[in-house]
Amino acid sequence: MESIQQSAPDQAGHTQTDVALRASDATYRTLFQVMGHGFCIVQVIFDAHDTPIDYQFVEVNPAFAHQAGIENVVGRRMRDIAPDHEAHWFAIYGQVAQTGQPVRFEQQAAQLHRWFDVSAFRIGDPTERQVAIVFTDITARKRAEDALAASEAKYRTLFESIDEGFCILEMLFDADGTSVDYRFLQTNAVFEQHTGLAQAVGKTARELVPTLEAHWFEMYGTVARTGAPVRFEQHAAAMQDRWFEVYASRVGGDDSRTVALVFRDITVRKQAEAAILRLNQRNHEILESITDAFFALDHAWRFIYVNQQAERTLHRAHDDLLGKVLWEEYPGLMGSAFEQAYRRAATGGIGGTVTAWYPDHQRWYEAHVYPGAQGITVYFRNVTEQKWAENERERLLAAEHTARVAAEAARAEAEAALHTRDQFLSIASHELRTPLTSLLGYAQVLPQAIARGTGKAEQMSARIVRQAQRLNTLINQLLDVSRLRQGQFVVTQRPLDVAGLVQAVVDEVRATLPATTNHSVELTLAQARVVAVGDAERLEQVLHNLLSNALKYSPAGGTVQVKVTCTVTEASVEITDQGIGMPADAQAHLFEPFYRASNVGGQASGFGLGLYIVREIVARHGGRIEVESTEGVGSTFRVVLPLRATAAPGAP
Ligand code: ADP
Repeated sequence: MESIQQSAPDQAGHTQTDVALRASDATYRTLFQVMGHGFCIVQVIFDAHDTPIDYQFVEVNPAFAHQAGIENVVGRRMRDIAPDHEAHWFAIYGQVAQTGQPVRFEQQAAQLHRWFDVSAFRIGDPTERQVAIVFTDITARKRAEDALAASEAKYRTLFESIDEGFCILEMLFDADGTSVDYRFLQTNAVFEQHTGLAQAVGKTARELVPTLEAHWFEMYGTVARTGAPVRFEQHAAAMQDRWFEVYASRVGGDDSRTVALVFRDITVRKQAEAAILRLNQRNHEILESITDAFFALDHAWRFIYVNQQAERTLHRAHDDLLGKVLWEEYPGLMGSAFEQAYRRAATGGIGGTVTAWYPDHQRWYEAHVYPGAQGITVYFRNVTEQKWAENERERLLAAEHTARVAAEAARAEAEAALHTRDQFLSIASHELRTPLTSLLGYAQVLPQAIARGTGKAEQMSARIVRQAQRLNTLINQLLDVSRLRQGQFVVTQRPLDVAGLVQAVVDEVRATLPATTNHSVELTLAQARVVAVGDAERLEQVLHNLLSNALKYSPAGGTVQVKVTCTVTEASVEITDQGIGMPADAQAHLFEPFYRASNVGGQASGFGLGLYIVREIVARHGGRIEVESTEGVGSTFRVVLPLRATAAPGAP
């Protein structure tokens, strides 16, 4: 009953109907026949206790069936038509019939599936208990209202259920149109949690937070004025230092001063961000404080970080390098050990250290390469000075080594010299004693031989002479060696006839061959005269030595061939014997002092100095000596002398 609104009919149609009813029956009938509202007259039925329990339709207008949704009702009772028709319908109409008080109300008739806007008033004699009803089917409007309410409820639920704070503000402007405050019209459940403001609805921001910064009012004022929504992050010092992320939009049209906010307290996030920023700053400082130059490259070889030291080392500003490709900025790296190391890190994920010369900078760099998720990182240093120091150290070490080797060699030479001296003393004493012993022996027995007069005296005397000559030869050799060693070995330079010299020596040797000999000496001269420049006495010594060796080392006899040939530039003297020859390994040492081949028997006496002196003499003539020998077959020694067109300086 409380939903019934007690009010006078205020709708034009109703008033007219009343007037019409009262005016005339005819007019009234015409009216209610044509009008679009439903109209009926009912007689309310009461029980024995005067409680209204039903009503019967007395009359209906043509619009009734359409408005009420029921037909052919005249003469019928409502309970027959709709047994579940709500009791309040009977109560309301009963009251109207009893009191004569008109009513206007909206009510649902569930069984008719409709809502009605109803005006009811008593009509006729009160004892007839008749009520005239003018009504309209408002089901469609009611449904729309319900839907709206439902959607409102839905949004309310939504805003209540979201984690974000939500509120609706009414902006308050001063006379100049400046927004100076706002009032909270609505807030959701988590509003207090986000803002710390309790029971804000109905209160203004200034009441709740007197020191709130002006920019909040300005911001929302602008949203209300322009209708352009904003999203922003803002610090609110007055609200316990909170940070808010806010989305503000106007609710309604141009005249609206209402702004809706969806927001959240992002203080924790902001603090975390600040902490990360501080951390990054610290990392940055650490990276910058590293004394090594340092740069990072992404997977496309672009610079993504260059620290100050790297800027200094590379002479490039970090802004200048960032985003640029390594190989394009430093093409000299291509094909270097650095490129290999960088690629190994980038594609194989294998870090490493490389030290190499970078020609573009004329420097040595040492680079440590590290693979990473973003690309590679390179720490590098200019190690040119260290490298130089290292090289210098190596050079000094090498020099020291050379000096040591030289000292070693000098020591070895000194030892060898000592050894040579010992060898010399032992050989000399042995070699000198042998002829001396036989010479002494002959000299002691010579007087007896003379006394006996057996003719042996001449033989002995000849032997004494030979041994003395042998001694003389040995002593001469020793003297020569001594002169050679002391640089006092003089070779004169005079024109001489090599062919004539050889002829003379061969003649002399032939003459001294014993009568019993089975040796012969053959001489072949390609030319009668072969003129060269040199020291005739020394060259004679050379030929003597070679010829006597040829005879000495042919103990079984045989022919010694001497051949003189010449070309335009050289004269050659070849002495070939059929003697013992020498082992192949001996040929390399033949000309060293005191060297004697292993196949030399005990009988062939000698110092091993002859060939040494020979070679020195030949060398002082600008010539050379060669040997070809086969052990057991024989040997050929060849002396080659240059034929000089003009006499050497100093020659007459
Ligand atoms: P020596 O004859 O006093 O030993 P040399 O210097 O004249 O010294 O000769 C060195 C060595 O060369 C000899 O001991 C000998 O072994 C070898 N040699 C020199 N001439 C001949 C030769 N014609 N046939 C074989 N061996 C020779």
